[in-house]
Amino acid sequence: MSDHSSRRLIMGMLSSLAMLLILGLGVELLLRQYSLRQHELEQQRLLAHAYEVRAVLLAELNATLHLATGLASYIPAKQGRIDEAELQPWLRGLFEQGRHIRNIGLAPGNRIDFLYPLAGNESALGLYYPDIDAQWPAIQRVIASRKPHLVGPLSLLQGGQGLIYRVPVYLNDQSYWGLISTVIDFDQLAAEVESIARKRGIAVTITPAGQTTIPAKQDALDLSVSLAGAQWQLQATPLNPAKKTFTGLRMLGWGLAFTVAGLIGFALHTQQRRANLLLALNQSQRDFLQAFELAPQGMVLMTAEGGLLVVNQAFCRLLQLPPEQLLHRPLHSFCPPAEHEALSAHVSAIRPGHNNSWFLTLVDAQHLQIPVECSAAILGSLGGADEVRILHVQDMRERLRLQRLQSEFTASVSHELRTPLTAIAGALGLINGGVLGEVPHAMQQLLQIAHANSLRLQALIDDLLDMEKLMAGKIRVELRDQWLWPLLEEAVAHNQPYADQYQVLLHLVGPPCSVRVAVDEQRLAQVLANLLSNAAKFSPPGARVSLLVEEHADQVRVSVQDQGAGIDDDFKARIFSKFSQADASDSRQKGGTGLGLAISKELLERMHGRIGFDSVKGQGSTFWFELPLHATSTQRANL
Ligand code: ADP
Repeated sequence: MSDHSSRRLIMGMLSSLAMLLILGLGVELLLRQYSLRQHELEQQRLLAHAYEVRAVLLAELNATLHLATGLASYIPAKQGRIDEAELQPWLRGLFEQGRHIRNIGLAPGNRIDFLYPLAGNESALGLYYPDIDAQWPAIQRVIASRKPHLVGPLSLLQGGQGLIYRVPVYLNDQSYWGLISTVIDFDQLAAEVESIARKRGIAVTITPAGQTTIPAKQDALDLSVSLAGAQWQLQATPLNPAKKTFTGLRMLGWGLAFTVAGLIGFALHTQQRRANLLLALNQSQRDFLQAFELAPQGMVLMTAEGGLLVVNQAFCRLLQLPPEQLLHRPLHSFCPPAEHEALSAHVSAIRPGHNNSWFLTLVDAQHLQIPVECSAAILGSLGGADEVRILHVQDMRERLRLQRLQSEFTASVSHELRTPLTAIAGALGLINGGVLGEVPHAMQQLLQIAHANSLRLQALIDDLLDMEKLMAGKIRVELRDQWLWPLLEEAVAHNQPYADQYQVLLHLVGPPCSVRVAVDEQRLAQVLANLLSNAAKFSPPGARVSLLVEEHADQVRVSVQDQGAGIDDDFKARIFSKFSQADASDSRQKGGTGLGLAISKELLERMHGRIGFDSVKGQGSTFWFELPLHATSTQRANL
């Protein structure tokens, strides 16, 4: 991975992480808000229930206190004289109505003289308040205030806890009569209030105000209760406080944060990659266009129909025309009319992976014809155009000039060599033949080698000249309708002496065929000589080379079959090329130039035939050529 892309990856990861943290923070803030809101709602609910409980407490107490207050108005009405018989049923009535009254005591002159019910409270009868040091100062303040006063909860002599409601009674002449003291069963009242509170899902504790005996609890709510001078604190707490961990919500929130951060990170990464790709693409397009523009050869972008879309400087120079006179015109408008059809065929045959090359003539602004070689490929879509073709146009003038020079040089050198070589070979032949007298024994071998080599040199020069003439189109092939069989017989007869050198027998496989072909007799003999001499050359001594004829529907096939070593697979593709030999040492060992098959191919094509071979290494070769059957031979065959 390059430095640039790894930095980009780290940046992407960091931004995703930052995104995750921001989203996570958002989730936590939302959870906090939600938790506060929940807490607020719970507090509101708790407050509402605490108010309800306080209202119950006050209602219960008020009802009881009113009863006691009603009794206080009875005494002045009786001018302070109390008739016990009259009082008893009334006290009973009060006691029964006031559900939490434990006892009611009347203390004229601050001494408890009447007590209802007496049973269980006997110890309080006759109690003189000034004697109770703990209570007397408070009682004195009640008397002085002339107002009823509630105190407690206090531990009662009779056991348990109670509230004491003291009502100072003054007679109509404003003289102090005494106290009415109502003891309220605090334990019972508190139990009832607590049970009501429990039904509402809260727990309550009642303590006198100022006595901070209740430890401050979390989620607890304190309400003050004041009645008839008494001050309490009512603390309410939820019985089952909700656990506020929000684990599910938190997990969901963080899960969403992860997903969103991941998605955003992925989207950013993809966008970044796309932007980089686009940048790279633009850069590579610019590079391509620059290379295209500055290429030393002509370059053209064209449509599938051959319309010119873009041309480079070299192409403009080649045709000596400015780009505006070239663009949007078909390529064939710069070719001679005779080539239009071929050009269209080539353009429409352009396929990916094919060898899309052809020769073409272009005409420049001065009407000069320029031979070019075109190579094309499909580029795909470009700048809105579909299936764009790119064409490489190579000016062939220099190459053709060099080829011509080379041919002319080879031809003239060969020509110059041929005459003296013919003379040398002739002279050596005469000497070796003994025409000029007997050759001294010591010179015989050297002279024979010299003669053989001069003949090989002659053959090479003949082949070279033939090849050059063929290439230059200077060899004239005169086709003449004739019988094929005699030509084959003649070829076998002429080449047997050569085959004898290799102890090979040439054999024309009968029966004679009655086939006529249109051929140049001499040139066909040259082809047969090449195939038969090759077969003999590459066969082992004592082998046989067969010459066969097969007639097909409209052509005849002539095959030369040998029992030689066969042809290597990797040489097969080059065998018809000029100067190609399977083994370079062949030319020294067996003679030959590597031109024979190339010349045979050219000659056969001029005679409208074709050449080929079948060979398996180690199992011999069969070289064959096919020629079209002449009409008359078909007629004859039908007779
Ligand atoms: P040359 O003059 O060297 O024979 P050719 O063009 O006739 O040139 O043949 C080219 C090469 O093809 C030979 O050098 C040889 O390697 C191979 N060749 C041709 N004919 C045969 C054959 N019948 N058997 C094996 N190899 C052959």
